[in-house]
Amino acid sequence: MKDTLTEFAQGKIDQLSAVSLMRTLKPTHRLDGVFVERGGRRLISFSCNDYLALSHHPQVKAAAQAAIDEHGTGAGASRLITGDHPLFSELEARLAALKGTEAACIFGSGYLANAGIIPTFVGSEDLVIVDELAHACIWSGSKLSGAKVVAFRHNDVEDLAAKLAEHRGSAGKALVATDGVFSMDGDLAPLDAISRVCRAHEAWLLVDDAHGLGVVGDDGSGSARMFPDARVDLQMGTLSKAIGGYGAYVCATQPVIDFLKTRCRTVVYSTGLPPANAAAAIAALDVIAREPERVAAPIARARRLTTALNLPPAESAVVPIVLGEAETALAAARDLEDKGLLAAPIRPPTVPAGTARLRLAFSAAHTEAQVDQLIEAVRPWRAR
Ligand SMILES: *Cc1c(COP(=O)(O)O)cnc(C)c1O
Repeated sequence: MKDTLTEFAQGKIDQLSAVSLMRTLKPTHRLDGVFVERGGRRLISFSCNDYLALSHHPQVKAAAQAAIDEHGTGAGASRLITGDHPLFSELEARLAALKGTEAACIFGSGYLANAGIIPTFVGSEDLVIVDELAHACIWSGSKLSGAKVVAFRHNDVEDLAAKLAEHRGSAGKALVATDGVFSMDGDLAPLDAISRVCRAHEAWLLVDDAHGLGVVGDDGSGSARMFPDARVDLQMGTLSKAIGGYGAYVCATQPVIDFLKTRCRTVVYSTGLPPANAAAAIAALDVIAREPERVAAPIARARRLTTALNLPPAESAVVPIVLGEAETALAAARDLEDKGLLAAPIRPPTVPAGTARLRLAFSAAHTEAQVDQLIEAVRPWRAR
């Protein structure tokens, strides 16, 4: 019998391979916050989102190990059944305090968070307006909600206002969603101006600060800190980047959080985080509160590179080196790998066609000498 499923998959693979867009997994052993081992070689990684090197921090690891010894490896059920470990409310209180909100709700992952939060608050009568470069899971959540989904031009507040003026009237509720720090570009959303437009049109604002927490703002509390006048109704972020673990959260008012906990499908129908992830995240937040110099380090490293290469000053730990075609980004990444440096080539559909790039991510654990090595390796690609 014909295996049409396998034929379909093979046809897709052939198409993608022909245009340098096929992706494959490469087993990579992360040795610490900086070095990885891949294909038998030790490389300096500029491709990890572990911006504060907390995934290998002795106190964070010890907290996770102690939690496994005490509580086991899994939550055992969804939180509403028997999976609501006391460590979760402790972590939620810490996150809410850091963000200055009444309450917080944690999730299994960032993807699950946005896939769940958005459909909890908007539906088929409603409107979602999304920055065109916002993370894929914001788009997934928006589509799942059944609301009308409209894109606005990246960080273009006038376009956002125009889109709201055009579509807001016919909608029931309206939600605007954006990254706080853009994952593939490293720039900040102008949250003060966005929040003003939202208020003028009675739209709620969701900000995904996956790359802000621990890195942006003098206390590492994230991008909202940079815009004290902004009102962000749903402050979402992850525990998987600077926090060094896994999971996600949203901070908001108590009623918003209480409603999520009773109705958000990715909370209600998904198992609670492994308790050790919560313990590790609490320990990571302790380090962030105690060591402002660690929080300041990734942006300082990133700025060393942007200054040396005459790029706009880095606003976060992420710096894109936009090269254009997918094949060029692949060639640049191979060249850097030959020089002992790991820098992820990012291709469509993760970024728009024609903007394939190296995405450089800086860690507090990188030395200046390592950054300088990267600068010299990237320089010829910048000059092309
Ligand atoms: C990584 C990321 C996510 C997804 O978080 P996970 O915990 O990895 O699922 C969501 N939003 C943004 C902006 C991200 O960069």
